[in-house]
Amino acid sequence: SEAAEPLDEPAAGADRLRQDRPHSARMYDYYLGGKTNYAVDRAAAEAVIRQFPAIRTTARVNRAFVHRSARFLARERGITQFLDIGTGIPTAPNLHEVVQREVPQARVAYADNDPIVLVYADSLLGSSPEGRTDYVEADVSEPDALMAAVEATGCLDFKRPVGLSMNALLHFLPDDRDPYGVVAALTDRLAPGSYLSLSHCTPDFAPEVWAQIVDIYVKGGTPTQVRTREEVVRFFDGLVLEEPGVVVAHQWRPEPASGPSLVTDAEVSLYAGVARKE
Ligand code: SAH
Repeated sequence: SEAAEPLDEPAAGADRLRQDRPHSARMYDYYLGGKTNYAVDRAAAEAVIRQFPAIRTTARVNRAFVHRSARFLARERGITQFLDIGTGIPTAPNLHEVVQREVPQARVAYADNDPIVLVYADSLLGSSPEGRTDYVEADVSEPDALMAAVEATGCLDFKRPVGLSMNALLHFLPDDRDPYGVVAALTDRLAPGSYLSLSHCTPDFAPEVWAQIVDIYVKGGTPTQVRTREEVVRFFDGLVLEEPGVVVAHQWRPEPASGPSLVTDAEVSLYAGVARKE
């Protein structure tokens, strides 16, 4: 993450940042070893780590999937436009850096509803000269408003294929916020040949531990629902999954050059998949 020092002092004019309670983006930043988090985030993150020390592995494996899946779409599927929802606090390399290394003219629109991401969005906007990046503050549970805001930037041409990514996001949309309807509303707007990539935490390998983790998030004010493999697969309804389908994230097209992976499914506890809209 981008902050040079831990953020112990409230930033000026930052009451929107909700520094009085833990926030998912800043807890995730802490798991990744970043510095864009407050004492209240670190306390909640440490409570999760006590329940599940592997959460830092989950976060790292997730980030590696973000990179591999985006690189796969750019390199092997010819995707040059990306919409990344639930972007998170900037963490190098960011998605545009990964895809612009493959395709310098790639365009990336980022969206997140956490004001702290906006504070650091400069790091997301450093595009290659040939490409372009934009950032919108928007809530995925209002997909029409989100798409309107993205369209208003002019960054993406929705008549052509787009790589839509929602990594480590949908477990923050419990069923009462209609996550399947949200995903369908977003993919409906995409041209044929577009892709959906997502990752999602699961209780499948350690149900009691994950019930405790969900409890920590919910008590901290973040609605959270982890899902079984079958429930994650449902997000891809109507789309055609790329091999190897929905798998634990470290098993999704692992790159041999990165060496053998010693992590277990239980330590990762995160499903991932990529599918094409026909
Ligand atoms: N996609 C990144 C970051 C995941 S952390 C990665 O996988 O590495 C989850 C992110 O989702 C956080 O930045 C959080 O602010 C964002 N988020 C949570 N609920 C959201 C919502 N309703 N709308 C938009 N973004 C949301």
